[in-house]
Amino acid sequence: MTHIVVIGAGIVGASLAFHLARKGANVTIVEAQEIASGVTANSFAWLNTSRQGPDPIALLRGVAIGEYHRLQTELPELEISWTGALCYGAGTDAALQGSSHASAITQVSRARILELEPQLKDPPEQALFKSEEGSLDAVHATHTLIAGARDRGAKVLTQTPVIGFRTVNGQVTGVETALETLDTDVVVIAAGTATQTLTAMLGTPLPVEASPSVFIRYHAQPGAIRTLISSEKMEVRQQPDGTLLAAEDYQGDAPHNHPSKIAQRTAKAIESQLHGVRPLVSQMACVGLRPVPADGIPIVGYLPNVGGVYVCVMHPGVVLAAAVGRLASEELMDDRVCDELEPCRPGRFIQALESP
Ligand SMILES: Cc1cc2nc3c(=O)[nH]c(=O)nc-3n(C[C@H](O)[C@H](O)[C@H](O)COP(=O)(O)OP(=O)(O)OC[C@H]3O[C@@H](n4cnc5c(N)ncnc54)[C@H](O)[C@@H]3O)c2cc1C
Repeated sequence: MTHIVVIGAGIVGASLAFHLARKGANVTIVEAQEIASGVTANSFAWLNTSRQGPDPIALLRGVAIGEYHRLQTELPELEISWTGALCYGAGTDAALQGSSHASAITQVSRARILELEPQLKDPPEQALFKSEEGSLDAVHATHTLIAGARDRGAKVLTQTPVIGFRTVNGQVTGVETALETLDTDVVVIAAGTATQTLTAMLGTPLPVEASPSVFIRYHAQPGAIRTLISSEKMEVRQQPDGTLLAAEDYQGDAPHNHPSKIAQRTAKAIESQLHGVRPLVSQMACVGLRPVPADGIPIVGYLPNVGGVYVCVMHPGVVLAAAVGRLASEELMDDRVCDELEPCRPGRFIQALESP
């Protein structure tokens, strides 16, 4: 049986581990901290598949929603709120044209906007409604995927940082932790922002940036928001218990841009837009570091310079986790080459790294 070590138990590593275990691999997940303790813990987790302008990964993005529906049939515990998303303001029309899901996006009038979101104080004349989209609790989804992997025989080692690799004749044969070296046929690096450090240990530091974004949770009464609203003023959604979630741009490290200050300003903006949310009380506000490859395109595939190493790092990782998990498991277990992953190969960076 092929032994595969997956490094990282965020949503991407969890999906890889589940899909590999489902195909019969002998999987060990090695996580430096706890399950879903990386940026997955602070994700807005909007399953948003539309994009402005030409999209180099249109094929991959195009299957992302369908793969979550498939995953829900395999893992009934996986909860997804298929509410649709209501988008208005600058850039929204361009998103319609560039989307790989344009057929599921409709332009809606003010009357329809009010049917969808009755608490909006001043709805725009027009908006786009992306009926296929939804959101999930990324921490719960990650635990569900890990539980599914465990049920299929996977082992999970938490509080176990990977500190190196054993290679023999250019092939990885082991993954080193402080306690032991784990023998392996293949290692999957799904370590988010730590990907650059781990691939540097193998002589190929893949360029992955840690891109900051602000995540906020507020206490609120249930029933204020039914869909997910994305406008110039706010990007918000609400959980059934009333918790209201918001994502905001990072604005630098000056004291007046501390996440708690951004949370106060965002609360005022949301209160000005919606009935029934006053007073919004912030539960937490923090900066999450999103793993964004230098050219913005996911990095998925085998490292060309060392045998037995497959890399999986991307933004938006929640959107793509289900699709990449399945497709990558087929490449790893069935020797398939998936067209959807072709633009994502790590080799595109290797020549640049080797040039003086
Ligand atoms: C505010 C905000 C909003 C966002 N909104 C969205 C959104 O709407 N939709 C979307 O798709 N994405 C969104 N994202 C991005 C999304 O959260 C990430 O793309 C996704 O969670 C990345 O998952 P991951 O598994 O690659 O990384 P992580 O969750 O960071 O997991 C990597 C894991 O690897 C472990 N690790 C690292 N080094 C080692 C080592 N040496 N040994 C062992 N383990 C190691 C880490 O501890 C970590 O648990 C958002 C992010 C933020 C911050």
